[in-house]
Amino acid sequence: MKSHHLKLYNTLSREKEEFQAINPPFVGMYVCGPTVYGDAHLGHARPAVTFDTVNRYLTHLGYRVRYVRNITDVGHLTGDADEGEDKIAKKAKLEQLEPMEVAQQYTDTYHRDMAVLNTWKPSIEPRATGHIPEQIALVEAILKEGLAYEVNGSVYFDVLKYNNQYQYGKLSGRVLDELISGTRDLDGQGEKRNSVDFALWKKAAPEHLMKWDSPWGLGFPGWHLECTAMSSKYLGTQFDIHGGGMDLMFPHHECEIAQGNACNHQDPARYWMHNNMITINGQKMGKSLGNFITLQELFTGNHALLEQAYSPMTIRYFMLTAHYRSTLDFSNEALKAAQKGYKKMINGLRTAHLLEYQADDSIPVDEKQIQQIESSINNAYRAMDDDFNTAQAIGHLFNLLKKINSIFTGQLKGAALGEEVFSKLKNTYTTFVVDILGLIEEKADTQESMIDLLLRLYGEAKTARDYTKVDEIRAGLKDMGFVVKDMKDRIDWAYEE
Ligand code: ZN
Repeated sequence: MKSHHLKLYNTLSREKEEFQAINPPFVGMYVCGPTVYGDAHLGHARPAVTFDTVNRYLTHLGYRVRYVRNITDVGHLTGDADEGEDKIAKKAKLEQLEPMEVAQQYTDTYHRDMAVLNTWKPSIEPRATGHIPEQIALVEAILKEGLAYEVNGSVYFDVLKYNNQYQYGKLSGRVLDELISGTRDLDGQGEKRNSVDFALWKKAAPEHLMKWDSPWGLGFPGWHLECTAMSSKYLGTQFDIHGGGMDLMFPHHECEIAQGNACNHQDPARYWMHNNMITINGQKMGKSLGNFITLQELFTGNHALLEQAYSPMTIRYFMLTAHYRSTLDFSNEALKAAQKGYKKMINGLRTAHLLEYQADDSIPVDEKQIQQIESSINNAYRAMDDDFNTAQAIGHLFNLLKKINSIFTGQLKGAALGEEVFSKLKNTYTTFVVDILGLIEEKADTQESMIDLLLRLYGEAKTARDYTKVDEIRAGLKDMGFVVKDMKDRIDWAYEE
């Protein structure tokens, strides 16, 4: 493994720290996955692309990454403060489906959309409903610690009591006293001792669709619990990186920290990484604002706010042009610029592929060029080592691309770099674009229009009695598996049988 000094922004200590995997070269990474009750949108794509790139870079450095990303298929309620309907059950009633049909349908479309964004599948993708016994065991453990209480078939986490021993709010920087005074006058406390307490287990009303037997009667787990259950099961009670969107920092991740400390007396994750939010034309994305855009709508251009379709790789590239901790604003202008940038980068791959080293002793070694290339390569790595700064890394890759293009046009002679630097330039560019940033060539589906064009040329050649050209086009199409059909009134084609 290469010796790299990664620096990660540590949200708990609030400064950048040198990252050391607990048990190198193994890295355990848990990322909160989607609640599967609707089509995947930009809010799903950003964490998926962010943590895919983290996974890819760590893998490139030689770490063995176990990447766990869950599917939330129960317990995520429509309201805050542990009230409201289960989001999946609500959708199921609306569409007259089984809740698991809804979960399956949107898990499938989520996978489809994440695949075209070229994200690697997680190593393990556990489902909340598949880990009910583990969640019940955690509730029992927290009760045993005296940090939870049961009321009428529901179990709540006792935040005040916890805060006497630990610190509630240390991830988000929230202060418990302020949280309490902020919610004191509001309804919704219900059977909780304090409004800041959160549900570990909820008693199910008779009409509730998804419920399980437990020591406290029929019920279902609280949303925060599943991630503690699944992360500790697959990565241990303390692991390296916990990721998710910024909106999950409070209360979801704060509650995970509380649950982890209550059960295991340690913080579950050593580094918390939160990708920032996406805005649309400067506004927060929301269904009520009419600017809610699903990934399929982006890929097809089928949305009132979109001037055209934007391909999955354009979206991926666009997300990588910002640091993951920065907000990212979507607009047609920005996306069109990203489309250009992405194509430039892919053209660079093609050009790099065409370059071949030609030794030439008559060409003197150009130390200045070599030094510029070496420093761009080092800077690209340094940017990624510094809290995965893809935005800066892309800037350095474009500097490398300039050199690649200069060699291609003959302005810069490959021999002036020496074979080693020449290969390093080619390989670093390709490795960064394809393996680390995950940007690949999107082959357009132009078969029909290409054949039509060739048939038109064929027709013109026939009219002009240019039979050499006619034979050439016919043979060329045959090589590609198509047969030209000369009909009475038109020219058509068929697949060669
Ligand atoms: Zn989670």
